[in-house]
Amino acid sequence: MLPAPIRLDAEPRSTDADRSPRVRGERLRLTEIFFSVQGEADAAGWPTVFVRLTGCPLRCTWCDTAYAFHGGRWWTIEAILDEVARHGARHICVTGGEPLAQKRCLILLRRLCDAGYEVSLETSGAIDVGPVDPRVRKVVDLKAPGSGEIGRNRWDNLAHLAPHDQLKFVLADRADYEWARDTVRQHALATRCMVLFSPVHGSLAPRDLAEWILADGLPVRFQLQLHKLLWGEESGR
Ligand code: SF4
Repeated sequence: MLPAPIRLDAEPRSTDADRSPRVRGERLRLTEIFFSVQGEADAAGWPTVFVRLTGCPLRCTWCDTAYAFHGGRWWTIEAILDEVARHGARHICVTGGEPLAQKRCLILLRRLCDAGYEVSLETSGAIDVGPVDPRVRKVVDLKAPGSGEIGRNRWDNLAHLAPHDQLKFVLADRADYEWARDTVRQHALATRCMVLFSPVHGSLAPRDLAEWILADGLPVRFQLQLHKLLWGEESGR
């Protein structure tokens, strides 16, 4: 049985080192840290520690993590590393909200890589991913019209994608699908990295999306959110 998620109702006890000016400057606001099965992207199925940062400047219509928009608690990066290590997992996913909205996220990503973890980053695609440590596997959204946030896509990010990164489209309906299909073809996205198509849970029938992909012969990877099949809409999963 998986351990219960750590909800951040109380700030971890600080040490003398935490109170030094240098470390005090390296804090991040977190909604939760939890250990679960990665439900998405290339690392789907791996036991993974999720570090969910608080806050997001976007408001996607179908967002399933609105509870991370506000609240949370400040953690030092040292305390985050300690909590991550406690689970003994090899895979770490830094997510949100929009984790890159907190600039010190870049430090956390580097420190996790330095510690030898397989690190992935889930980001909205609205913030520059250029400064992200190249060892991190970036999972970058391209927002379709149905998200209500298509205007936030930062197209410059395409130039920062490495072959181990992934581009993710979350699709609410046929119009979203056609936009995503045309975008994949127009920018030859599948030649840059893996492209993921995922249906909005409860909005687009997974089978419809799978059949559209096959009918068009698109070189994209269909995915379902494994954690929702396992645990439904529970947060911290
Ligand atoms: S970018 Fe992610 S966290 Fe932010 S509103 Fe959209 S789905 Fe929610």
